[in-house]
Amino acid sequence: MSTLFLAHTEADGTLAKAALEALAATIQLATALGTPFSVGLIGDNTGPAADSIAGCGAARFLAVTGTDFAQARYATDAAAAEALCRAAAATLVSVPATSRWNRVLPGVAHRLGGRADTHVTGLDAANGIPSISRWFYRQRMEAVLTRSTRPWLLALEGGIAPAWQGAAGSAAVEAVALTPPATRSHVVGFEAPAADQQTIRPDAEVLFVTGAGWTKKQADGQVKVAAAETLILDFLRLSRASLGSTKSLVDLGGEGQDILPFLSHLNQVGQTGSTPRHAKGLATCCHGEEPHTVGWRFIGERRAISLDANCGWARGKADVLYIADAFAVMAKVNALLV
Ligand SMILES: Cc1cc2nc3c(=O)[nH]c(=O)nc-3n(C[C@H](O)[C@H](O)[C@H](O)COP(=O)(O)OP(=O)(O)OC[C@H]3O[C@@H](n4cnc5c(N)ncnc54)[C@H](O)[C@@H]3O)c2cc1C
Repeated sequence: MSTLFLAHTEADGTLAKAALEALAATIQLATALGTPFSVGLIGDNTGPAADSIAGCGAARFLAVTGTDFAQARYATDAAAAEALCRAAAATLVSVPATSRWNRVLPGVAHRLGGRADTHVTGLDAANGIPSISRWFYRQRMEAVLTRSTRPWLLALEGGIAPAWQGAAGSAAVEAVALTPPATRSHVVGFEAPAADQQTIRPDAEVLFVTGAGWTKKQADGQVKVAAAETLILDFLRLSRASLGSTKSLVDLGGEGQDILPFLSHLNQVGQTGSTPRHAKGLATCCHGEEPHTVGWRFIGERRAISLDANCGWARGKADVLYIADAFAVMAKVNALLV
């Protein structure tokens, strides 16, 4: 069994937390298999990244280096990954499930005549046979599976192992020569929203979920979307929480209704949305329906605020349910946070 861990460097030449978590999971697998593993790096200047994990116990450090491989681009990333896998004669390949790797991994598996599995949440081995854990049917069923096809390429989800921490040093990196493939796309720069406009924050401790109730008529017969917007944005600014939403609330915009303008389908949590992992979650003005709460599966401590004592949260979906007016509660919470 020849295991290869692949990572790409970030813009500043370092390895991201997701890469260090995947590295730690790969080390656990190699230990369970009792076989050595190698590291393959892709980037503009891979030396500092290799040095930062010099003490990880890898048998070999391989790298495809150069400005052509600095940016995420299918043609160059797939070619570099293929070259590294061939150089290492890898039978098992692990990568962090970044958008960059998720895009190329199935194509790389095809080029190598292997198979790829994505969304891997656990790695194990028994009697020299590796196995992976993976969730199905939107996180309702967990399967442990193995494959006989090699190479087997695995995209490891974030958070499945603590990020590798160990001694930096001087890694002996073997350069894998590769003529960059012909490309048609050129990266001219990045445009990113200001940090405060970015409401999806995977590293936040708290997930704050907004539901359609924020835009519904309130006790005085009035709709209070502007007040809701202020309360929600103030809470996000003060708490640095990540913003989630129910499907109903993000759909309302498409139906021409008054909606919170900073919400998009990217914020949607649930069966047809995301299943984020945060230590705590607070749902406000959502009903707690099953397809929505399935997205809460990996939230550590779940709390909800709803006016409806018969909502889904009351039937065991939340650890704590406050039967209260979310406008009043969040105004008080914000006042306490200032
Ligand atoms: C196949 C399928 C897949 C789906 N996938 C998803 C999914 O991925 N994600 C998702 O979210 N939904 C999904 N849905 C829809 C889901 O079932 C619910 O219909 C939807 O999430 C409900 O949205 P809501 O809770 O925001 O709104 P509502 O059902 O309208 O509930 C609003 C709640 O706000 C409360 N409220 C109103 N004012 C206040 C106030 N001042 N203070 C406190 N509470 C207040 C009300 O009492 C009510 O309980 C799916 C549905 C189907 C059929």
